[in-house]
Amino acid sequence: MQEKSTNSEPYVTRFAPSPSGLLHKGHAYSALYAYREAQTHGGRFILRIEDIDTTRCKPEYTEAIYADLAWLGLTWETPVRQQSNHFADYETALSDLKAEGLVYPCFCTRKEIQAEIAKAPSAPHGPDGPLYPGTCKHLSRQQQQAQLNAGDAHTWRLNLDAALKRLSTPLVWLDTLKGPVTATPYDLGDVVLARKDTPTSYHLAVVLDDALAGITNIIRGQDLFHATHIHIILQRLLSLPTPHYTHHKLLMDEEGVRFAKRNKSATLKSLRDQGISAANLKASLGF
Ligand code: GLU
Repeated sequence: MQEKSTNSEPYVTRFAPSPSGLLHKGHAYSALYAYREAQTHGGRFILRIEDIDTTRCKPEYTEAIYADLAWLGLTWETPVRQQSNHFADYETALSDLKAEGLVYPCFCTRKEIQAEIAKAPSAPHGPDGPLYPGTCKHLSRQQQQAQLNAGDAHTWRLNLDAALKRLSTPLVWLDTLKGPVTATPYDLGDVVLARKDTPTSYHLAVVLDDALAGITNIIRGQDLFHATHIHIILQRLLSLPTPHYTHHKLLMDEEGVRFAKRNKSATLKSLRDQGISAANLKASLGF
């Protein structure tokens, strides 16, 4: 644990769960980690509900998040920002990127993308598998416009080549556990910034919201390490500050598999129902 900071630098961190299921032990670890760091640094702890996926996210899971975090003994600032109430903010940022030619519409279906990847096995791969092969990046302006006018379903993808041409290097952030890290954004390729049915994606919403909330230290799991490389690019393109990052270890179950929302037995609710106390759970997680 770090020493309590003695300078007057603000320290603002957050926990940003998605209400698409019940929180499990892995979420508890992340929330407690951020909360402890906020306290250690005499800083602020913010909770944000990341519910842009309005089909998978449910109000009852948002309520369950509040109940679980309160059970853990956490307190947070109100009002809590719920992303689904702020789609207009993300649309504005997306139109800025559109105006600068930094995004392009992608009309590909999932099937088409898979077929394209299968045709070209040498297509670029990232840590999570094959990357978008760039099919729609090569459409002419007229073709794009014709399909947009026809109302064809489309996402908006970041044009990474155009973005990197705009930015001066080095693109570095400070990772508190790793030291300075130079972004390698091609790991994730031309990511989606607005989905077919939603005017944003995780990447765009998280970057904007962290900046709006004045987050100085982002604490989240290692599973999002590669996303950070893209977030640094988006911060530079949108003239937003780059916070410091901590990508903590991921908790594993007895079989060595990461906790996920499908592990019903590891949900905080089920632990509570089994009579496990918050103090015992916290101690078992090292808090
Ligand atoms: N909403 C994301 C999740 O539940 C976390 C986002 C973040 O911490 O940046 O996995």
